[in-house]
Amino acid sequence: MKIGVLAVQGDIREHANMIEKIGHTPIRVKSIEKLNEVEGLIIPGGESTTITKLLKKTGLWDEIIKKAKEGFPIFGTCAGMIVLSNGIKKYEKQDTMKLIDIIVERNAYGRQVFSFEEILKFRGNDIKVTFIRAPKIVEYGENVEKLIEYKDAPVLVRQNNILAASFHPEIEDDPSVHEYFVEEMVKKSK
Ligand code: GLN
Repeated sequence: MKIGVLAVQGDIREHANMIEKIGHTPIRVKSIEKLNEVEGLIIPGGESTTITKLLKKTGLWDEIIKKAKEGFPIFGTCAGMIVLSNGIKKYEKQDTMKLIDIIVERNAYGRQVFSFEEILKFRGNDIKVTFIRAPKIVEYGENVEKLIEYKDAPVLVRQNNILAASFHPEIEDDPSVHEYFVEEMVKKSK
């Protein structure tokens, strides 16, 4: 399957490698034409303000929202999760796509280069998750499914065709979150 990796800013290569590793074709998406070639889209981590600005400039912002509302599967990690959310605590002026019913707090798991790892449970198996200045989900609606939780907050959530992670599954060896996205969400959306 052709899986798009939004290629405006952030850790694009790591996501593309992960898609290849699980036997699918990554397509770098920088334009509406490319977006229309793919069956699902990943929005990588990076800086949510920069990603937002670049998406608006290219027209991809409105197009992604339109497709998402028609059921197109999207997976956002870290900054990508912020972009997909319903809003950002203390940064209410920063626009978001409002595609998943979560409110996030930016840099809530540590500032600057601060990062840490945890072993958590995902669908019954251990998974190593790495947080890098990660956003925390501080509120979520009842239709949001919690797939991984860490302490008092969910860190991998799904609402219908939208998947969002506080952490960075693309930088680990374990492809299980990408596999979940492609097998359970992209394939089943057909
Ligand atoms: N703190 C970043 C933001 O607000 C996200 C960090 C990341 O993607 N690693 O956009």
